[in-house]
Amino acid sequence: MTTPLRDRPTPTGTGLSGDEAARRLAEHGRNELPRAETASLAVRALAQLREPMAVLLVAAATISGAVLGEVVDAVAIVLIVLVNAAIALVQEGRAAEALAALEELEAPTATVVRDGRQRVVDAAVLVPGDLVLVQAGDRVPADLELVAGDGLEADESILTGESLPTAKRAGGATAPDVPIGDRDGLLHSGTFVTRGAGRGEVVATGAQAALGAIAQQLAEIEREPTPLQRQLAGLTRRLGGAAVLVASGTFLLILLRNGSGSADDAFLTAVALAVAAVPEGLAAVTSVALALGVRRMARRGAIVRQLPAVETLGAVDVLVVDKTGTLTENRMRLASVTTPDGAGHAPDALPDAVADALLDVAVLCNDAELDPPTGDPTEQALLALATPDRAAALRDTRPRLAAAPFTSERMRMSTVHDLGDGPWLLVKGAPEQVLPRCSHVLDGTTSRPATPADHARLLAKAEEHAARGERLLALGRRRLPAVPTDVEAAERELTAIALVALRDPPRDHAATSVEQVRSAGVTLLMATGDHPATARAIADEVGIATDRCLAGTDLDHDGVPDEPTDVGVYARVAPEQKLALVDRLQACGHTVAMTGDGVNDAPALQRADIGVALGASGSDVARAAAALVITDDDLATIVAAVREGRGIYDNLRKVVDYLVASNLAEVTVVIATLLLLPAFGVPLFPLQLLWINLLTDGLPALALGVDPVDDDLMQRPPRRASDRLLGLPHLRRLALRAVVLAGGALCGLAIARAEGLPTPEARTVLFTSLVVAQVLYAFVVSRRPFSGDRNTWLVWSAIGALALHGVILVVPAAQIVFDTVVPSAAALGAIAVGGLVPPVVLAMVKRTRHW
Ligand code: ADP
Ligand code: MG
Repeated sequence: MTTPLRDRPTPTGTGLSGDEAARRLAEHGRNELPRAETASLAVRALAQLREPMAVLLVAAATISGAVLGEVVDAVAIVLIVLVNAAIALVQEGRAAEALAALEELEAPTATVVRDGRQRVVDAAVLVPGDLVLVQAGDRVPADLELVAGDGLEADESILTGESLPTAKRAGGATAPDVPIGDRDGLLHSGTFVTRGAGRGEVVATGAQAALGAIAQQLAEIEREPTPLQRQLAGLTRRLGGAAVLVASGTFLLILLRNGSGSADDAFLTAVALAVAAVPEGLAAVTSVALALGVRRMARRGAIVRQLPAVETLGAVDVLVVDKTGTLTENRMRLASVTTPDGAGHAPDALPDAVADALLDVAVLCNDAELDPPTGDPTEQALLALATPDRAAALRDTRPRLAAAPFTSERMRMSTVHDLGDGPWLLVKGAPEQVLPRCSHVLDGTTSRPATPADHARLLAKAEEHAARGERLLALGRRRLPAVPTDVEAAERELTAIALVALRDPPRDHAATSVEQVRSAGVTLLMATGDHPATARAIADEVGIATDRCLAGTDLDHDGVPDEPTDVGVYARVAPEQKLALVDRLQACGHTVAMTGDGVNDAPALQRADIGVALGASGSDVARAAAALVITDDDLATIVAAVREGRGIYDNLRKVVDYLVASNLAEVTVVIATLLLLPAFGVPLFPLQLLWINLLTDGLPALALGVDPVDDDLMQRPPRRASDRLLGLPHLRRLALRAVVLAGGALCGLAIARAEGLPTPEARTVLFTSLVVAQVLYAFVVSRRPFSGDRNTWLVWSAIGALALHGVILVVPAAQIVFDTVVPSAAALGAIAVGGLVPPVVLAMVKRTRHW
């Protein structure tokens, strides 16, 4: 259904002047919603101190200070809690900053008429009174009172919860006492135009607009944790539970061994052990790694709209891409024009008789803007048939009276114009859609009835061009008795004017990207609205398998194949067929990423595991439904995003490897010493355990979160979506590594005792061995730390951690607090064994076997 324009939008309607707009901007303020308030530093700091571990430690400090009289210990524990909280705060701040920067990138734009010229501006500078143009796919930038509308429908679910689009028209209800959903003369800010086009005057901006009312609610919606973050939180909780159990056991063990006189040491050791066993750093490192990854992707042109997408990207094993823009340049150029007699012509050498009729359709049945040239690349290319002056003159003298817009389902569009001798319907679209509606063909300057031979000839020509990878449009027209109310119904008995072939060459590096996708173990499928022969030709050029190729009509008949990845190319597919394709792929257990640009692609984008909206050519509706927006439409950018997603997951895995094995090692050392050397007393003092935990959970773990990605990352198959970050076999492997790390430290202790070192020094050996071994273990976990683009963060964090540890060994005040002594030569020898041997052993194991 389309409506004739009651009030034709004047192409040169003047709108506000720049000066007036500036004045109003000063008066009304920017067209922005009130920003979500970020919690103050104090509030965030308090939140950190409410973490269970912090509470546990503070309680322990209080007991040891007030009850047991260990004031130094109490103060030191509190200090360490504060330092821990500060590190977490800084990390959280960095993550929030990285994500906030993204919201800037997403700032919406608006097409506004000012000083008689149409331009695209930042939506924030719109003011009441501005004249704004909208069309299907746009997000409405402010509350607009329609002055003209052409088949307009808007999706207002964000305001009303109504999922079906509502029809909108110029002159409809706008009064504030009409319920929002019934104000059909208003387009509300934040809603989406799903159909048609129109222009409206801004009546409210910013917080005054309809969306302002719910802005507060929106601001309060917190970012949901991602599945990975949830998985890690669960992991931390489970390890915490285990730690408390182990700690209680240890408490009893010390009491049994050393008698009740050692209750205070037993108590503090147990608490510290509990803390040591839990990788608290994990949550913070995860948010930082995700946030930094999101920022890196944004720099590369891939904007993450849903945080979980970052993780899911790494598991994608089927990628369904559009042809246009993703594989091709999306810069259509005129290739040739074929007249109904079958003769081909160069676009700049058309016979006069055809030229006039052809130009009418090419210029008038066309939504692209002339100056500057903007709009659908297909339509821009058609404009090139006319000189700019000729095109401008046609647009000025032959206004559009009604229209039936282009949609991917209809594959055609029509407009109605008075060509001087009454109304005409001008139609362009896919040949299979337009030619069957042609009863006549243009022969010279006159229209004659079409014969079956004419039809056969034109379809054969269309086929021939499509096989060369060209996009074909058939152009036709029809004289009308009057301006129709239902334009779509008038699309019949047309006179075919010509076939226009457009060429959109593949991007230079498209073949390389396709190859990268393949070697990353991801199946690439093409799903396009274009003609099968065009699709196949481009697929051949970029290296997508074309031995099986299905068209939308095949899907209608036989449905989507049982295993859709057997077919490389899906052509002439309608948006709902894309949705069926996604469903089928997911039912086969695939993790699917799919690109899309149109309004109608939104459902498929939403359904796919990763919906990828094409930012350059796509609509706001598609962007809103997508998890990822690719600003340059390029397949290479999607490949880069997949690589980034895999890299982030890989690094988080390294962090888990590091933290879990180190913490298990600490627990093992304490328990083993208690069991094997009962005479030794407390294996490690609480503060020593806290110190190890602070050093290793803090610096090296964070550095591993930003480790350079492995070279072979894109040569591996994707991980399975069901893979857990820390499954049982993995945990077993980490436990083995913990045994190696702990074993080394215990050897160091054994050597120290064999050398007859006094207990405090022997304890320093154990303490330091554990620190050195853990710090160096980070290098084992890291990719290849000593070659190529090594992780300088890791190098510096290791140097920093070891230096800090050196300080508490030699500075007298710290020696008192941490119960350390300056190691003698013999002690240093023992430390060398205890600290160096385990990482070396682990590195050798890593070299020789896959772990
Ligand atoms: P794609 O998936 O390649 O973007 P589209 O759905 O945009 O496919 O186009 C499908 C077919 O519709 C094209 O092959 C072309 O024949 C026709 N077509 C494309 N754009 C227009 C337009 N603006 N007006 C009329 N017909 C069009
Ligand atoms: Mg298209």
